Amino acid sequence: MNIHEHQAKDLLRQYGVPTTGGGVAFTPEEAEKVAQGIETDVRVVKAQIHAGGRGKGKFKEPEAGEKGGVRFAKSAAEARELAEQMLGRTLVTEQTGPAGRVVRRLYLTEAAGIAKELYLSALVDRASSRVAFIASTEGGMDIEKVAHETPDKILTLTVDPATGLQPFHSRKIAFALGLKGDQIKECAKMIGGLYKLLLEKDVSLLEINPLIITNDGHLNALDAKISFDGNALFRHPDIVALRDETEEDPMEIEAAKYELSYIKLDGSIGCMVNGAGLAMATMDIIKLYGEEPANFLDVGGGASKEKVQAAFQIILSDPSVKGILVNIFGGIMRCDIIADGIVAAAREMAITVPLVVRLEGTNVDLGKEILAKSGLKIVPADDLADAAAKITSAIKAAA
Ligand code: GDP
Ligand code: MN
Repeated sequence: MNIHEHQAKDLLRQYGVPTTGGGVAFTPEEAEKVAQGIETDVRVVKAQIHAGGRGKGKFKEPEAGEKGGVRFAKSAAEARELAEQMLGRTLVTEQTGPAGRVVRRLYLTEAAGIAKELYLSALVDRASSRVAFIASTEGGMDIEKVAHETPDKILTLTVDPATGLQPFHSRKIAFALGLKGDQIKECAKMIGGLYKLLLEKDVSLLEINPLIITNDGHLNALDAKISFDGNALFRHPDIVALRDETEEDPMEIEAAKYELSYIKLDGSIGCMVNGAGLAMATMDIIKLYGEEPANFLDVGGGASKEKVQAAFQIILSDPSVKGILVNIFGGIMRCDIIADGIVAAAREMAITVPLVVRLEGTNVDLGKEILAKSGLKIVPADDLADAAAKITSAIKAAA
């Protein structure tokens, strides 16, 4: 789960990480009010969306003006004008994809004088099974690009969980960031705070880009992104309260209600599969046959008819789905339950796209019989390759 920059900064402050103060605004009036409470001459007005690259982004609507999602206001009245331009408008950045994101809230903050922009992040590194810190002097840039073009400018440091964070970790990071004097102490305090935050709140990624050195020589988190481990949210009601569902895919939210593992993808073939491994294999074989999956969907082991029905409706409600491939191996899952779920879903929503079903395993004959008697137009398939060949040729024929 992701949160907004202003929420991430509130958390950072709680853990002793310095960041400029300010407030959030949902309307131009609120923006003016928040701006009035900011004492610096210049205020930054920042679009709050769950995507980076806002500074270099562009709004779709001409009314939003030429500038991106990070703007500067010299007065509270100007902050209000900027809010009027930005709120409700669609910001397109390198990370949003071409559809962009509607800006529903703004963060207004004191403008900081920047002497230098650095990069600092901490994450759970799956390869080493450790918390890793990543530091670079190349702040404010796309870190993937820095890693690709100038890997020597990036320090990656993992923390042994047995010994925990040690003073040498922050010394190494401070050195990599080119810090001097008191900044080294500030850095140690910051690293300690970030590590504590990461562990206590089950953070999977925490990124400060840029971490700045201010004109008077202090460290400050100018931007902040925090992602949390979804599987640990049950023990963090305070974090769940920060959730902004308008930033999430509505179909993924619907799927979560039924405890379905569903991830929306860019392709055109909707997949309903049981078991994550089989779901991955199904996606692979669709690609092998020249098409792209519209989703990852694992209905799980002992799914009920209602769960299967919900899964099928979620797939059907995706307008980019041009064909559906059901691939079930009935082990714990019974094929007749899958068939019942498909038929129930089809009764409520017309299936206008080709549907290929491959069933195998427990109660397969019963499952096939239910589907055959349903009157639905179903193309049966014998195995994975047969199923992939049939669905890809069916959507080509339909197009
Ligand atoms: P992002 O584009 O979504 O990553 O948003 P950031 O918060 O990182 O802002 C983008 C850029 O805007 C930063 O790298 C800075 O160069 C600039 N910027 C943001 N806030 C300030 C500020 O308070 N003062 C100054 N001088 N520049 C800022
Ligand atoms: Mn940034």
